[in-house]
Amino acid sequence: MEALTQRISFHIENKGEVAQYYVEESHPPIIDRDTWKAVQLERERRKAFMEKYNIQKMDYITNDNTFMDRIICGCCGGVYGRKIWNSNDERLKRTVWQCNNKYAVKGRKGCDNRHIDDEVLYMRYLFLSLMRLAKI
Ligand SMILES: [Zn+2]
Repeated sequence: MEALTQRISFHIENKGEVAQYYVEESHPPIIDRDTWKAVQLERERRKAFMEKYNIQKMDYITNDNTFMDRIICGCCGGVYGRKIWNSNDERLKRTVWQCNNKYAVKGRKGCDNRHIDDEVLYMRYLFLSLMRLAKI
């Protein structure tokens, strides 16, 4: 976003003197300065978050993966992943989130933290969001 900080200078030679004119923000920016700053802060926050938790690529949020790469295990610091617990009985089929380190080594239990039901997680998230909004 160079346009926001860009200074344009005109050099005019007149009798050996050099006059400079600085025109700041001569073009209307595509987005306002505050929005741009907020985006930069969010980008830095995400980068630090990904580095801290060793996340290679953050998925875009869709209805299916709202919490992808955004739930960090309180026990081991791993990332929670979405799993579908299948059953022949459709009524028992569940979507849960569990620590990716739970069975990092096949057949051996790693992290002991519990799974959380997709619906419960969503309701808690909604509740916390509403609480946060209510404080404003
Ligand atoms: Zn864990």
